[in-house]
Amino acid sequence: MNNDTMAELIQKQKHFHRSGTARTLEFRITQLKRLREAIVSHERQIIDALKQDLNKSEYEAYSTEIGIIYGEISYTLKKLKKWMAPRKVRTAFTHIGSKGYIVPEPYGTALIIAPWNYPFQLAIAPLIGAIAAGNTAVLKPSELTPNLSALLCSMIGNTFEEDYVATIEGGAEVSQQLLQQPFDYIFFTGSVNVGRIVMEAAAKQLIPLTLELGGKSPCIVHWDAPLKLTAKRIAFGKFTNAGQTCIAPDYLLVHSKVKDRLLLHLKEEITEFYGKEPLTNPDYSHIVSEKHFKRLAAFLDQGTVVSGGKTSPEQLCIEPTLLDHITWDMPVMQEEIFGPILPIIVYDKIQDAIDMINNRPKPLALYLFSQEQEIQDIVIEQVSFGGGTINDTLMHIATPYLPFGGVGESGIGSYHGQSSFECFSHQKSVLKQTTAFDFKFRYPSSKNGLKYL
Ligand code: NAD
Repeated sequence: MNNDTMAELIQKQKHFHRSGTARTLEFRITQLKRLREAIVSHERQIIDALKQDLNKSEYEAYSTEIGIIYGEISYTLKKLKKWMAPRKVRTAFTHIGSKGYIVPEPYGTALIIAPWNYPFQLAIAPLIGAIAAGNTAVLKPSELTPNLSALLCSMIGNTFEEDYVATIEGGAEVSQQLLQQPFDYIFFTGSVNVGRIVMEAAAKQLIPLTLELGGKSPCIVHWDAPLKLTAKRIAFGKFTNAGQTCIAPDYLLVHSKVKDRLLLHLKEEITEFYGKEPLTNPDYSHIVSEKHFKRLAAFLDQGTVVSGGKTSPEQLCIEPTLLDHITWDMPVMQEEIFGPILPIIVYDKIQDAIDMINNRPKPLALYLFSQEQEIQDIVIEQVSFGGGTINDTLMHIATPYLPFGGVGESGIGSYHGQSSFECFSHQKSVLKQTTAFDFKFRYPSSKNGLKYL
């Protein structure tokens, strides 16, 4: 798409937004239902596209992509009227006689840039927020999942007029071209480095934005954790989608007393989930591209491989792998892994584990396995992270009642449920003043006015 056509599309969306049609409750509800119907009728194609792009199993396609979206739409439909209502607030003593209220107002035309790892869910979940909040939207899916991206383009194109919701396919150049346009809001999900580029572009036009980024999310296993269940839940969080999950546990911090036993359980759970030969398991996800495969394969000679370690370059597949004897100076600990490789570092005192995490940028997620309330309190209080789960992995992302987002380098802002609505809404403050009376002392003509305040 050339610049002029793109600019024309954005102008058309802005024009449609100004017409006010997209702002009514009825319109928003109708569009959310249309979106849901479109997904229902494309379910098979979505599952097939995810299989082609990532070898994602049907179970994962449903549980981590489509199902989450149905949940978000249903919850939003139920609550939208309440979220949209102006909210009364108290007024100060100095404003006696007036009324204050907050009106959630759509920003206007939103740009949504999505990544490849959950290419359906991470494109549609923000779109639900944009529609619910009364915006028009342009969606830019990832070029690394071309089947899903093409499907989104046709599905959205057949469901909505392009002056309301449109999809533009393409890679970094298209994304950069879009970032030059006068959007009213930008919602970006992707890597920290590209997040910086997006924020810089947004700053030039002072466009408000949400950045859903990544980073190295730690998983602490304290000595009192129930090890078999802990191992099962860690293997689930780490190897779902072959570790290509923004909130996957990136590395383990394990109490030295329980490391060996945890490793044994982890090996058992990996075999239980993916069999003895995960590379030939038809339901185990592949790595998205050759570039990412090579980057990940280079980590396999670090520390000691205690489980997995085999790869299939033809299929871009890497076994679920556990790396022991890892130190912080190794390359695997220098960047977000984003693949099925789990490095393990031991600690003796919980404060040591906390300090190790706090020496790094603030993570998107944190997991803690411990039954002790005191340990849970210390970690929650002393470590800053986007969101997390105690005694499980990933699950905090799957509830519409918890805002989801990062902090520091892992992101700015949050969404899901009401937070998605709020994310795409400006909170407009209004004070309605009384004309029934007036205080003389507030005006310059009243010399002694201020002393009454
Ligand atoms: P990415 O940053 O490479 O790409 C994300 C999007 O940005 C894609 O649509 C891509 O086309 C576009 N893009 C790429 N280069 C660009 C550039 N130079 N200028 C403008 N746009 C550009 O990220 P990815 O590889 O698709 O996804 C993986 C990363 O995303 C990981 O770091 C992961 O942790 C993070 N992530 C975060 C979340 C979250 O919710 N916080 C979810 C999924 C993934």
